[in-house]
Amino acid sequence: MFELNKLVRENVLRLTPYSCARDEFEGTYGIFMDANENPYGTLNRYPDPYQKELKKRISEVKSIPFRNIFLGNGSDEIIDLCFRIFCNPGSDKAMIFPPTYGMYEVSAAVNDIHVIKVPLTSGFRIDLKSAEKYLHDDKLKLIFICSPNNPTGNVMDSHDVGYLIKNFHGIVVIDEAYSDFSTEQSFAKLVNRYGNLVVMQTFSKALGLAAARVGMAFTSPEIVSLFNKIKPPYNISTINQKAALARLDQAEETSLLVREIIDERERMRDEIGKFGFVEKIFPSDANFLLMKVNNANDLYQYLVSRNIIIRNRSSVIENCIRITVGKKSENEELIKELKGYTELHRGPGECPSESPQMGGL
Ligand code: PMP
Repeated sequence: MFELNKLVRENVLRLTPYSCARDEFEGTYGIFMDANENPYGTLNRYPDPYQKELKKRISEVKSIPFRNIFLGNGSDEIIDLCFRIFCNPGSDKAMIFPPTYGMYEVSAAVNDIHVIKVPLTSGFRIDLKSAEKYLHDDKLKLIFICSPNNPTGNVMDSHDVGYLIKNFHGIVVIDEAYSDFSTEQSFAKLVNRYGNLVVMQTFSKALGLAAARVGMAFTSPEIVSLFNKIKPPYNISTINQKAALARLDQAEETSLLVREIIDERERMRDEIGKFGFVEKIFPSDANFLLMKVNNANDLYQYLVSRNIIIRNRSSVIENCIRITVGKKSENEELIKELKGYTELHRGPGECPSESPQMGGL
């Protein structure tokens, strides 16, 4: 039986949250003399601490009830809040499946939480057998699943994810930052069925608002209350709330751009797969391609010298680079420079080899 309060840190349970002026009076009309704001200007008032208008729109767009939505200053804030609600520094643990998004481990370290790493299998699947061994450890409070995963690009098997949700006594956080680029079903609709589930999405990727820092968590109303209890009162600025609202009103444009990014991703896969130095391009459900090349460091330096910045992931997966899909013209430029790289590395009289594996990858 899942008991939320047993998972929450004692100090968080006991905490009296900060009560701001906008908690005391929620109306929007009147002479405001309650929050020590400056009466002059257009951005002189504090933002709505609970982002009600924005949440209402998100609720409509995603068909998820208002009470199940929490908004953070990017998903990164939500990750940190999860540690601060559920994990006692110096004694509790979290599980991750590397290679994965780096902030889970960084946030754990900031909060002095031990990380259990269960590496993905060679096919980038969750190794359930290895994970299973830890599931009944009382100190293990959080499991982070990134799907589609960064940097591997694939979605996790929904049965594996389901198994963890059903068999873990703690909180399962599913990070769906890239889900708009995938055809796979989101887990967000299941938050009212499973009380231990937190599903994160973001305005930073498909919605194109990385600068605005708006992350979404879909979870039980009880966990939403815990997030609200410990977050900084005005965690999302008025400007950013407005930017997010405006973006939601451009649904058609967003879906066209997402379509274009997906098409470009597949075109890049075809084009880049032809280069001999590319050993493998992994399947992707995201807006990037992970690929194994014959010398990642050399290729990275070469592209930097041509003013094209990709991500060198060879520290986490041998000789792998991650390329984010750009605009069509930017992708063309990249492909042109990669052709130049092939020429440079072709010995005298040697032909550029075709990658033998490019077909089905
Ligand atoms: N999750 C994943 C998997 C990411 O790759 C990133 C950023 N690259 C984030 C979350 C951060 O999202 P946000 O901008 O909402 O903080």
